[in-house]
Amino acid sequence: MPAPAHGRGGRKQRSRRPRTTDQVEVGMAEAEAHSIVIVGGGICGLATALALHRKGIASLVLEKSTSLRADGAGIGVHANGWRVLEQLGVAAELRETAHLITVYHDVWQQGDRTSREKVPVRTELRCLNRKDMIEALAKDIPAGMIRFGCRIAAIDADPSSHGAVLTMADGTTMKAKVLIGCEGTYSVVAKYLGLSPVRTIPRAVLRGFTWFPHGHSFENEFLRLRVGDFFIGRLTITDNLVHFFITMPKPPTADVSTKDLKKVRDVALKEMQDVECPAEIIDIVRDSDPESLNFVTEFWYRPPWEVIFGSFQKGTVTVAGDAMHAMGPFIGQGGSAGLEDAVVLARSLARAVEDADGAGKDAPASAREKMIGKAIGEYIRERRPRVALLSLESFIMGALLVRSPSPVAKLACVAVLILLGSKSLRHAYYDCGRL
Ligand SMILES: Cc1cc2nc3c(=O)[nH]c(=O)nc-3n(C[C@H](O)[C@H](O)[C@H](O)COP(=O)(O)OP(=O)(O)OC[C@H]3O[C@@H](n4cnc5c(N)ncnc54)[C@H](O)[C@@H]3O)c2cc1C
Repeated sequence: MPAPAHGRGGRKQRSRRPRTTDQVEVGMAEAEAHSIVIVGGGICGLATALALHRKGIASLVLEKSTSLRADGAGIGVHANGWRVLEQLGVAAELRETAHLITVYHDVWQQGDRTSREKVPVRTELRCLNRKDMIEALAKDIPAGMIRFGCRIAAIDADPSSHGAVLTMADGTTMKAKVLIGCEGTYSVVAKYLGLSPVRTIPRAVLRGFTWFPHGHSFENEFLRLRVGDFFIGRLTITDNLVHFFITMPKPPTADVSTKDLKKVRDVALKEMQDVECPAEIIDIVRDSDPESLNFVTEFWYRPPWEVIFGSFQKGTVTVAGDAMHAMGPFIGQGGSAGLEDAVVLARSLARAVEDADGAGKDAPASAREKMIGKAIGEYIRERRPRVALLSLESFIMGALLVRSPSPVAKLACVAVLILLGSKSLRHAYYDCGRL
């Protein structure tokens, strides 16, 4: 995917002169040094950099890929995510790329029996092309604030500050006064904070887009189809574009490389035919754009108890997005939760920068660092209950859908879900507030 022209979006920016948590210092103790470094240029990293930029604060995003990366075809964004995209100033342009999904259409096909249920979606839900979202977030981040081809290999404490020293894969080092790990499930920053590696659930999912040059005839709905051991989703994006995912009971056998996505698709099609999947769905998968296909063989999650008790801060180092709360796709909230993190973190840091500026130029650097550390603590206090509930709900949904629990465990899961009120899609009503 070509990198967009950052900062040339033509958008009227709320730009004051970017301030930093401290002035950027280059050449300090031989390592390049920056005030705020964000590791990972995915949804959360870019949203955090943009949120900080909107508050007039500069940061540097380090991304291991050589250009913007948007794996996974489509992403469902609920009302809570849209509230954040509004705050970031990119909602209007993204709304133009995807229709509103108005209905959940559940179809359960078991032998000769098929049950159907249609439930209206009461809050905003759209399925975005991930590439559109990533590009919209990156477009207004000034040139030079995203650096590609930088894979962070290790993090160490910086003895001269509350921040950290980053070591890149090529051996070069960089100092960060504030470090935010947004590098997803296998986060080096999370490891530095003492968090355990994320856990995995083996589950194969093929995702992709299908283009209908003359338009399709589907409603603007999220079709959720259960047939045999397959769980299939189809989300309308526009009159011509549809996103699908197929959760397969088992990955293709060893003789099919999981990198050969056309072959994986052929295997999936064959198995779908064997369980008499509706022809309309088979056609969508068969006609999908091979370039859009994405395949994963496991889901990643941080158990809810670690989200509740884990340490998300060391000095002025913290995490956001999947690095903090990977939760699998079971409630479709991972991306939106990462967007919420971005707004809350930028808001807290901006308050601290204002306070530090108010303390005057002569205030000692340690006082400034303490203010930033306190702001990160506030961010974690605000986010922890929210992401703990999301992680718990996703964990339970995953247990019900994937693990075939015993009747007693199943009853307990359902009881917790009732207590959480998930039927109301309560999590989509959440508002993380203004930037
Ligand atoms: C099958 C599936 C379906 C999903 N569907 C939905 C959905 O419908 N709605 C939803 O909200 N969420 C969904 N999710 C979850 C969502 O995709 C994630 O929560 C979201 O992408 C996390 O964003 P992130 O920015 O935190 O991490 P990522 O998207 O993983 O981005 C991390 C970035 O960091 C970079 N990086 C990694 N390591 C390093 C390093 N060492 N140095 C430098 N850079 C690094 C990566 O290249 C990447 O660009 C789904 C997940 C799966 C698996």
